Amino acid sequence: MTEEEFMKAMRKVIEFIVDLYRNPAKHPVSTDMRPSDLFSLLPTAAPENPETFDVVWTDFYEIIFKKGIQWQHPQFHSFFPCGRSYPDILAETIISSLGNVGFNWSCNPTLAELDTAMVNWMGRALGIPEHFLFQGADTCESPGGGWIADTASDTIFCAVMAARHIKVQQELAKFNAEESESTDQTRTKHERTAEITSRLVAYGSYECHSSFEKACLMAGVYCRHVEVFAEDDYGMRRAEVERMIEKDVAAGLIPFYLQIALGTTSTATSDHLEELTGLKEKYDIWMHVDAAYAGSAWIVPSYRNNAGIDKIDSLNVNLHKFFLISTSVTLFWTTRQREYKECFRVHPVYLKKKAGGNDPRDWGIQLSRRFKSLKVYMLLRTYGINGMRAYVNRIIKMTEYMETLIVTIPNILKFGKTHYGLFCIQYHEEGMSQDEVNEATNSLWEFLNNSRKMLFTHSNVRGHDIIRVAVTLERSTEKDVEDSVAIFIQLLEKFQHLRKD
Ligand code: PLP
Repeated sequence: MTEEEFMKAMRKVIEFIVDLYRNPAKHPVSTDMRPSDLFSLLPTAAPENPETFDVVWTDFYEIIFKKGIQWQHPQFHSFFPCGRSYPDILAETIISSLGNVGFNWSCNPTLAELDTAMVNWMGRALGIPEHFLFQGADTCESPGGGWIADTASDTIFCAVMAARHIKVQQELAKFNAEESESTDQTRTKHERTAEITSRLVAYGSYECHSSFEKACLMAGVYCRHVEVFAEDDYGMRRAEVERMIEKDVAAGLIPFYLQIALGTTSTATSDHLEELTGLKEKYDIWMHVDAAYAGSAWIVPSYRNNAGIDKIDSLNVNLHKFFLISTSVTLFWTTRQREYKECFRVHPVYLKKKAGGNDPRDWGIQLSRRFKSLKVYMLLRTYGINGMRAYVNRIIKMTEYMETLIVTIPNILKFGKTHYGLFCIQYHEEGMSQDEVNEATNSLWEFLNNSRKMLFTHSNVRGHDIIRVAVTLERSTEKDVEDSVAIFIQLLEKFQHLRKD
């Protein structure tokens, strides 16, 4: 591709992007694709010879874009608000053009330094306590700090691994102090590490994200799900966790990690953080807060329902949900930088660095990294903190407006409380049992989504099937919300009609 061809193609792409913003409802929100449709449609191998961008574009537009799900559509009410903004798109373009890999500080000091600085900018923007942030000129020496990961799942896995490493070291130290000098130390250490690891237990509620369970699976540790109750708004309470910990300790197991959700996936409810923090001292466990979705709302001080946050060990917030940044950018902070990094630090000869500096590679699994901090930098500077506050406030207001219109519709019942601009509903008729409500709610959800006119996500909270409702488009207006409600009512009437037949 020549420079002239590139500029021509880029103009086409820019027009496409602007059209997406101006006409978000141009194509159906959903798709009639069935599994393997696109796979079967595409040639079985790449072309031998170059093709023009115009030809490639037509195929992209017709069979990849138009047949896909339109996440940036006013009737996309699934999942959570999903990040996209002009400064983020600009940053993405620049990142691709720089072609950095950013293995370590020396590979591009500005990449590593901007990552480090953005951890602090984001922390301060969200009101994260100062001891989670890098302090002083030697950022590696500060107790607090963090990194920009890809996904919340990555950060949760890394937190579990770091906590596992710390607990194993503590237990080994106890063992070494007790054992005689004559033991075969090398063999004993390996065996003992395996034995300690086999007794480690991590805790998280039934409502916490599945990445917790996956992290435990990969880390080879016990994963305990703690029961939650409707009267607590499905937030995890200390007494229930403590009961399980006591039982495990009595059985010879070693509790080492507690995951606390602030903003769960199903209903955006929160665990009772403040009372849970008391367990940290008592059982010496690592406490991690998963605020993947809700953490972005903390940009507005009145949404900082996170008392106790100052006492935990680490936390994560996804910026690719409620923060206008596209997938995947997740912020992670800890107050125990040195101990945390011990789990990930290796020094291959080919990655020697001339100077010090915080190396993003020391924080997790990946070595190569994109210049993702540029996305954060460009967004924060062009919107400003006040611009982001206005955005979060508006999305929450739009969702609350939609809620007032939907929950008054006959047979639609609100489930649980509304949090951070997410509400949940069920279908209900007089005299229905819980099983019947579940069946009807599921059927309604499928009916709505199959219409291809609007999209929702389904979930199940401790046996209750629900439909989650979020307003996701950055520029959603009251008119968009009213259109959605009108479509919803029409579809609901059809659904009820069909059920009667
Ligand atoms: N935690 C919560 C509360 C979530 O809602 C999600 C995803 O929706 C995740 C973690 C996982 O996020 P990611 O896709 O970034 O791994």
